[in-house]
Amino acid sequence: MMMLQHLEAAGLTPEAAARAAAAQAETGEPLPVVISRLGLLQDDHVVASLAAAYGLPIVSMEDVPDAALDLKLQSGFLKTHRALPLKQDDAGLHLAVVDPSDDEVAAGVRFATGLAVRCSTIGFHAWRRTFDRLYGSESDAPSSGARGRGARWTQDAGGIRDLSLDAPAVRLVESLVAEAVEMRASDIHVERKPDGGRIRFRIDGQLEERQRLSPGMTDGLIARLKVLGDLDVADHRRAQDGRTALSARGRPIDVRLSIIPSAHGEGAVIRLLDRADVELDFADLGFRGSEITKIRTAVAKPQGLFLVSGPTGGGKTTTLYAAVNALRAPNRKIVTVEDPIEYFFEDVHQTQLDPAADLTFSSALKAFLRYDPDIILVGEIRDPDTAKTAVQAALTGHLVLSTIHANDAASVPIRLIEMEVEPYLLAATLSATSAQRLVRRLCPHCSKPTETPRELIDRANMSNLREGFRRPVGCSACSGGFLGRMVISETLVFDDEVAALVRKRGSLAPMRAHVAAPLLTDGLVKASQGLTSVDEVLRALEAA
Ligand SMILES: [Zn+2]
Repeated sequence: MMMLQHLEAAGLTPEAAARAAAAQAETGEPLPVVISRLGLLQDDHVVASLAAAYGLPIVSMEDVPDAALDLKLQSGFLKTHRALPLKQDDAGLHLAVVDPSDDEVAAGVRFATGLAVRCSTIGFHAWRRTFDRLYGSESDAPSSGARGRGARWTQDAGGIRDLSLDAPAVRLVESLVAEAVEMRASDIHVERKPDGGRIRFRIDGQLEERQRLSPGMTDGLIARLKVLGDLDVADHRRAQDGRTALSARGRPIDVRLSIIPSAHGEGAVIRLLDRADVELDFADLGFRGSEITKIRTAVAKPQGLFLVSGPTGGGKTTTLYAAVNALRAPNRKIVTVEDPIEYFFEDVHQTQLDPAADLTFSSALKAFLRYDPDIILVGEIRDPDTAKTAVQAALTGHLVLSTIHANDAASVPIRLIEMEVEPYLLAATLSATSAQRLVRRLCPHCSKPTETPRELIDRANMSNLREGFRRPVGCSACSGGFLGRMVISETLVFDDEVAALVRKRGSLAPMRAHVAAPLLTDGLVKASQGLTSVDEVLRALEAA
């Protein structure tokens, strides 16, 4: 009970302490684990209070090795006792433990290795993520018992136990992720229906049904996802977001998990953030040479504002990442604030938005200015405060990259003026704005020639377009005739003439006239090269 007292001193409420004690008694899991799994107290606080109570150091993430230590130790023993060997030196073996009151673990490791053992404390979630990464993430150790009903803590205990022994749900998650990777899906949707659940994959932007689940299996799946994402298993009413790494065919895949309550129960979206699949090259993303030149010229300037507009899910962030990728250099300091961080760069300082901690796009941007970076990526400009700070940053010698919600490249300055930015400041800072959409690429293995859309071409004044239009067919290599996606884009460069229009609060039409190749033109050129279909182009342009 000493531990419980220390945890109460660290902020565990008496009610939470009672839930934790009851769940501990029911499941036999140690207190720090039960508290973390139920989300009763933040891991930082648990670790700090245990470190003080037991006089142990706290593990810093820098102490964590890149690979599992080669010791004659069963990983099963380490997993059961929630321990992690950190390193071996003259002082002996350094061992991180979640539960410092477990005296079997140090004794067992000493016995097995013959080494002196020095313990330090680690949070349960940090331990599990690291352990899974180093030793693989097989299902949790099984336990047994009947599911409790009635009191909340009995449900807690039942929940924890069910989660750890629900092997079918563990296998389902693994097979879904493996299948999704195989099929190049970007998201796995778990949707609630009155009679159970439905799994759909998003492939090339389109949802495809994969399988139906019983209500019990759907519950098990959601519960397993919550455990994997370090989410509160007992909370069924709130939307929750988490992030973790899952393994598919022995390869770690970063995923973002969103649990979404609905009328029929909780659903989930698993977004696969697969580094290996992210193309960070403008040409690979589908930009035409003339567009790449305009964007590269805009972001090569030491200061100014480059903004990408387009619908949600239109690949705006990837375009900014491609710009960051092109700009990375040892002598440049690049900082970002994003929501969510979809891709990690090794040498870029990336910050996740956290409104609960008062970290908004605008507050982060203001803080960044004090660090004097060269390049700042702001996930999105969506309020006047962020808009003004971004313009201020661009005026004071920084290159600012961001996204904004607007229909086309020429609407961006108008949108910013609506956000109370002075037109003369915009005229001085905007280097270029792009608008983009994503279209599916035709499968090169099965597409067939199709007739030229004469009327459309005439309407777009593109009579000298060469003919090579194709249509989707479908084969075993693709989904419905399509394989991957590409960008169609338009870019407005703010030269003196366009800047003058902005300064005069110019209306849309004259600015639009300065967009050399609008979205429709770019789309038709790509369709005429057989890269995508005319229907795809029209669908993408309508959707916005
Ligand atoms: Zn095909």
